[in-house]
Amino acid sequence: MGSAALSAAAKSIRDWSVTEGRTNTLPAKVTDSFGSLVFNDKVQQERLPKPAYRALRATITRGEALDLSTADAVATALKDWAVEHGATHYTHWFSPLTGITAEKHDSFLTPASDGTALAEFRGKELIKGEPDASSFPSGGMRSTFEARGYTAWDPTSPPWLHVASNNVTLVIPTAFVSWTGEALDKKTPLLRSMEAVSKQAVRVLKLFGSTAERVFSTCGPEQEYFLIDRNFYFARPDLINAGRTLFGAKPPKGQEMEDQYFGSIPERVLACMAEAELELFKVGVPVKTRHNEVAPSQYEIAPIFENANVAADHQMMTMGTIKRVAAKYGLEALMHEKPFAGVNGSGKHNNWSLSDEFGNNLLGPGDTPHDNMQFLVFAAAVLRGVDRWQGLLRATIASAGNDHRLGANEAPPAILSIFLGDQLTDIFEQIEKGSAKSTKQGGTLDVGVSVLPKLPRDAGDRNRTSPFAFTGNKFEFRAVSSGQNIAWPNTALNAAMADALDSVATELEGAVAKGQELNKAVATLLTKLIKEHKRIIFNGNGYSAEWEKEAGKRKLLNLKNTVDALPELVTPAVLKMMDKYKVLNDREMHARYEIFLENYNKTVNVEGQLMVLMANRYILPAALEYQTQIGQSVAAVKAGGASAPQAKKLLGRYTKLVDKFKSQTDALEGVLDHSGGSAEKHAKYMRDKVIPAMNKLRELGDEIEVLTPHAIWPLPTYREMLFVK
Ligand code: ADP
Ligand code: MG
Repeated sequence: MGSAALSAAAKSIRDWSVTEGRTNTLPAKVTDSFGSLVFNDKVQQERLPKPAYRALRATITRGEALDLSTADAVATALKDWAVEHGATHYTHWFSPLTGITAEKHDSFLTPASDGTALAEFRGKELIKGEPDASSFPSGGMRSTFEARGYTAWDPTSPPWLHVASNNVTLVIPTAFVSWTGEALDKKTPLLRSMEAVSKQAVRVLKLFGSTAERVFSTCGPEQEYFLIDRNFYFARPDLINAGRTLFGAKPPKGQEMEDQYFGSIPERVLACMAEAELELFKVGVPVKTRHNEVAPSQYEIAPIFENANVAADHQMMTMGTIKRVAAKYGLEALMHEKPFAGVNGSGKHNNWSLSDEFGNNLLGPGDTPHDNMQFLVFAAAVLRGVDRWQGLLRATIASAGNDHRLGANEAPPAILSIFLGDQLTDIFEQIEKGSAKSTKQGGTLDVGVSVLPKLPRDAGDRNRTSPFAFTGNKFEFRAVSSGQNIAWPNTALNAAMADALDSVATELEGAVAKGQELNKAVATLLTKLIKEHKRIIFNGNGYSAEWEKEAGKRKLLNLKNTVDALPELVTPAVLKMMDKYKVLNDREMHARYEIFLENYNKTVNVEGQLMVLMANRYILPAALEYQTQIGQSVAAVKAGGASAPQAKKLLGRYTKLVDKFKSQTDALEGVLDHSGGSAEKHAKYMRDKVIPAMNKLRELGDEIEVLTPHAIWPLPTYREMLFVK
């Protein structure tokens, strides 16, 4: 079977290079295609009546409310534009708490009395949709008698056209809320958190003389993923149903040769990437970089950063597009955090910063001392935000999938800490002691704190092991997982930052009101913030055992798995903070806690069931077949009057192994049969009983694999999946 998939893979590579590879024409000028399927600013300007255009821009840039007459005008222009491009349907696109995106398509067509049809789309249809929401998780926020949920147009994220083989659909990004207005999705809290952080950041900026009225959180997510031949994918029930391999022995060659990272990209893969990127360009996703990642068959794609809300939508579109286009090239894109044991998993590096409405990056050390002072205040606020809300941040990246990755010596540890780099750390240390006089590189700096050191733009050093690293002009939250919607960790980051900036602003405003010079007030504040929060700074090796010990001494949280991390969502302090900044209320937070816990339980259960299925219906039959073969061989030799001690030994070993395998399969099946108790209790049970039973079964299965002839092994192997490209 393994061989059948292998020849099919070989054939698909050959077919591709003979047909597709040759006939593929080069795309048109890339600048012409960028945004060609987006109802962007340019199209809006061309197609909207002036007042409607101005009102829409005011909503997008200043968050002003939008009235129905504007919505009507936008709807008409949007529909005309879409229909001209061949669209027949529109959809309200949203991100429910399940983690994927959801959509329901409606036709523009309305029958007319004379038997023909008109294309119609009104403001109220643009503003509000009513999907049959009863089967989306709501964590109890929607009782069954009021099962309705609404999708609400998000005018700040531009609509685009989804072009598929024979259909074009207008996609409208929306928020998804319950009938009582509670957030049932990932977008709503992100938008609320952006409001919150904007408000507090503006207060701080004002102190420094800025006239900015809005601040945006910006985000540039780097996506890691695997591409494997689809023939292998289809032959692996675990990949199809769990997104990761549940069995599979490590290949003789893994990633130890270190010949993959930044290596040349195989032709079929490159063609696939190029097409995916072109598709993304058309829908306005500013994809920038592509390269090979560390593991075999692992790649990365990264865009230019955008405002976090648009970036989050674009990130979902990126994942969807890669998956869709990959299929056309006979490839399957795996976005799971750990599709293959023993080789690196996939993460999403979430580059994050704040920018004012004029485009000034608030976490970029500027050119003047004045900017530097402001920068240091914002950077210190990050220390406070991340330290104070480390539990919340940790919880927003917790999932059964990410549990395989965090702390696994390839990904950041589960302990949250900040890498600042030597230089910035040094400056903060000097400030803590009184004032910063110099940067580490030398160069005297007069810093009675009225003139803080001029900071270089480049952080200089890098650290791959930190979960949260300063990279010169932004922070990179690296513990985010490959498969997740980035809206959620960014929501937490913004909220944490809103809280930190609130306290910073209050303190500075108070001091200034008392007649203190801003410089002095900043100096006092920075010293205090650094004293209180320097424990979160760690520039060393995050993979080391010493760090875990040291972090313990510093009393940093070390929440090793999802079950430990999720309760952080509902601690009294977190609930209070999230409610105070109107990001999510008590019920909304509890709902998320329940849904994510449930999701963990379901994931582990599905994986466990799949293992039992694969053990009984794939591995065991093959193993028994081989066992019989060895047995027959030994018997034949014996009947011939000779002896075969090694074959006999093999028979003994193999038989014992297969026997153990079968009893462990039954044991796993046994522990999976568990119910009752709260979701929390069940989750602990999954973690403590089911996962260890799964690990044990896998070990035995992988041991059998390496002893079993390839010709009868029923599953594509790691060697095939990772190296046949
Ligand atoms: P690095 O080499 O540090 O990874 P890159 O310049 O390649 O840096 O950027 C990585 C990602 O960070 C890109 O997606 C980029 O757009 C994003 N990025 C750069 N500046 C910012 C910013 N101010 N806010 C958010 N993301 C940013
Ligand atoms: Mg990076």
